[in-house]
Amino acid sequence: MNVMTKEPIIKANNLYTLPELGYSYDALEPHIDAKTMEIHHTKHHQAYINNLKGALEKHSDYKPGSLDEIISDLSRVPEDIRTAVRNNGGGHYNHSFFWPLLKTGVAFEGDIADAIKAKYGSYEEFQKKFSTAAAGQFGSGWGWLVVSGGELEIMSTANQDNPLSQGKMPVLGVDVWEHAYYLKYQNRRPDYLQAFFNIINWQKVNEHFLKAVK
Ligand code: MN
Repeated sequence: MNVMTKEPIIKANNLYTLPELGYSYDALEPHIDAKTMEIHHTKHHQAYINNLKGALEKHSDYKPGSLDEIISDLSRVPEDIRTAVRNNGGGHYNHSFFWPLLKTGVAFEGDIADAIKAKYGSYEEFQKKFSTAAAGQFGSGWGWLVVSGGELEIMSTANQDNPLSQGKMPVLGVDVWEHAYYLKYQNRRPDYLQAFFNIINWQKVNEHFLKAVK
């Protein structure tokens, strides 16, 4: 579906605002520790916003729409700032998408649960495939569950790339940059991914899914 018809994650008039998490830094303990959440949100996410602003300010003639529109068609971004916008706009988008996906104690249910079971056979099989893809992303990047051509698909992207740039609609994403887990898990990315499955806000994933298949 066309991203323009969807409520944007980051609106054009709000490009440079750090979104609130909507929960406290220790809300995801013990799965993700408070210190990691605080640094991740206030330092890493903020830095992407600052750098995006710095890049876009070099082009006062370029009037971007929502961040969703920018990420969906990077070819419209002026060439000399395209890489900076891809990396930092992507970072801003991905983290803004990520925070609301995290919550403890949300049941795996709804249309998304039915679709996952239909596609992958079981929750366990989905978890295995998703975790393998995310763990196998070489270096920094993200693991994703997306809707592509009306079908669920598991994929990963490098750096701060987002599936939207490939015409795919993300419904679930996990940050596998070391800054997302190193304080608590050090080099054990698979342990972090296992913990991640305890804090997926399936209600939010379901919202993304319903919009993507509409
Ligand atoms: Mn991150």
